[in-house]
Amino acid sequence: MRKLLFAVSGLLLTLSMNAQTISSPDGNIKVNLSVNSEGTPCYNITYGDVVVIQDSPLGLATTVGDFTKGLTLKSAGESKLVEGSYDLTNGKKAHFTFAANEQTVTYARGNNAAFDVTFHVDNNNVAFRYMMYKAGNRQDRLSCMVNSESTTFTMPQGTKTFLCPQMGPQGGFARTAPSYETYYEYDAEMGKNGQGRGYTFPALFREEVQLPAAKKKAPQTQNIWVMLCETGVDGTYCASRLVCKNNQYSIAYPEDAEFGGVGTSAPGIMLPGYTPWRTITIGTSLKPMAETSIMWDLVKPRYEASQNYKYGRSVWSWIIRMDASCNYDEQKEYIDFAANLGWEYILIDALWDTNIGYERMEELVKYARSKNVGVYLWYNSNGYWNDAPQGPRGKLHLMIERHKEMAWLKKAGVKGLKIDFVGSDKQQTMQLYEEIMADANDYGLEIIFHGCTLPRGWERMYPNFVACEAVRASENLSFGQHDNDIEALAATIHPVLRNAVGNMDFGGSALNKYYSKNNQRGNHRVTSDVYALATAILFQTPVQNFALAPNNLTDAPAWAIDFMKAVPTTWKDINYIDGYPGKFIVMARQATNGNWYVAGVNANKEPLTVTIPLKMFSAGQSVKLYLNNGVTTTTVSKKQTITVTIPSNGGVVIC
Ligand code: CA
Repeated sequence: MRKLLFAVSGLLLTLSMNAQTISSPDGNIKVNLSVNSEGTPCYNITYGDVVVIQDSPLGLATTVGDFTKGLTLKSAGESKLVEGSYDLTNGKKAHFTFAANEQTVTYARGNNAAFDVTFHVDNNNVAFRYMMYKAGNRQDRLSCMVNSESTTFTMPQGTKTFLCPQMGPQGGFARTAPSYETYYEYDAEMGKNGQGRGYTFPALFREEVQLPAAKKKAPQTQNIWVMLCETGVDGTYCASRLVCKNNQYSIAYPEDAEFGGVGTSAPGIMLPGYTPWRTITIGTSLKPMAETSIMWDLVKPRYEASQNYKYGRSVWSWIIRMDASCNYDEQKEYIDFAANLGWEYILIDALWDTNIGYERMEELVKYARSKNVGVYLWYNSNGYWNDAPQGPRGKLHLMIERHKEMAWLKKAGVKGLKIDFVGSDKQQTMQLYEEIMADANDYGLEIIFHGCTLPRGWERMYPNFVACEAVRASENLSFGQHDNDIEALAATIHPVLRNAVGNMDFGGSALNKYYSKNNQRGNHRVTSDVYALATAILFQTPVQNFALAPNNLTDAPAWAIDFMKAVPTTWKDINYIDGYPGKFIVMARQATNGNWYVAGVNANKEPLTVTIPLKMFSAGQSVKLYLNNGVTTTTVSKKQTITVTIPSNGGVVIC
């Protein structure tokens, strides 16, 4: 009898242990764990009463064992409240605080622990990562490769998607892809798999929930927004993408052909070892996405900043005048232009090594310094992974040459590098990114990457990191008219998606009518000058390579130039107000000096009338209103709101 009792209680224990729930501090988000009949760990996520992620598998297939099925939930640690705060002067907000419940559960095969999953759940975000044990407790295996991951996000039927298709490996210009530069799709149906290769992070979904019909009222629907991303990706793992089958979005590793085919698709890890964190941001509006700190809450600085890095505004001749402008005289003209604007930097783009040369570059940097302008220099990242002919080439991909080059850069007084064409998400590439940033820090250099991956927590992990492109950026406005025709679309999505998870080197805010030196020919802007000012606020990165040109001092409105002379690039706070990707956006940022900037853009074909809450200003306060084709001064009303009509392809700024 006693034996039987033991057996029954043991069974009950097993049954109850296979289910587990982790809740957010406010109890609104719940991660519900189970193990299915095949022994595959599963999770779902509820938000209030709504299932926002349906039952989805977890698991890892590794070279030391297939841990995707035949598992039990062996034990669950205590759920504990984790609180933290940190500064992020190079990020979208100077100081973040967070509070989340964390719990670690252990999955096992038989008596042997296979992996832990740690869940971190705050009031708008769920994050989780795996920790692989030494294989089945075999003490002789201290490393493995993770061949694939079962992690899936199963979306409810009817969910709409806002996704950026993954680019093919070794495609694009001179084998430089993938580089996160395709067009977003807006409100698209599920089921497609991008261009056959899935989608890049971050990924946004809109779920429609029927609310119970109020008496005598028609049933209402409520949007629930879900953003997927990952963070903490460094040289210890690869970056991932999402592949889609029906309504299931699963983690996939890079493609074999990336990075010139060199380096494995599967990451290798030490044992015990961790995967990056997969993150899920949830809300009834896009505010939790725009304002999320989940990318940085879960990572730590990988090294100390070698100095107090400075940020600011930068001129950049290439965007308007292209390769031909990379010569001594025109760069000197742009240095004078930066000085005239009171801006901090100039970015000297590709081909300076041959068109200007190292010796004359030293003179140019010295001249810039005499004008209080810091110099960023462009570099090709290659290497064996692209055929882009622009130089300098072969200077950064190997350690010995890199140290020689960086020693020269430091001696010359260069402040930062823009490193282009690093198209791969393999672990080998992540190691290169990390090594470049760590070495650059030793020489006091800030780093911008272009034609590259998405930064995944890098603003906090690498203190000299400034930004990645990882977006269909302003160069495409120079290259083709179509991108101009749909320019405003991008401004409505980036602040709540791409730019919400990491600094974005877009390089925009052109005041030229045409993308050419004489401002008479070439692809032309369909957006207004106020739009250019609005995106200077909406698009965030601490060193902004703006597309202004010297001719704008005489051919652009004085009010626009005056605004750009004073525009900030570092921020104390952020306040998402309203929007819908593909239609419009209104949000506010508070500059480090305390001044608030409200910025909006309308991508609709028709003018849009919006009422904007102005709680960041006091009633009766005098503010500047940039709208239509000029600036006026207005007084904040008692109700602290303002109603404005934003033109199609236009913007609004209140500061
Ligand atoms: Ca690019």
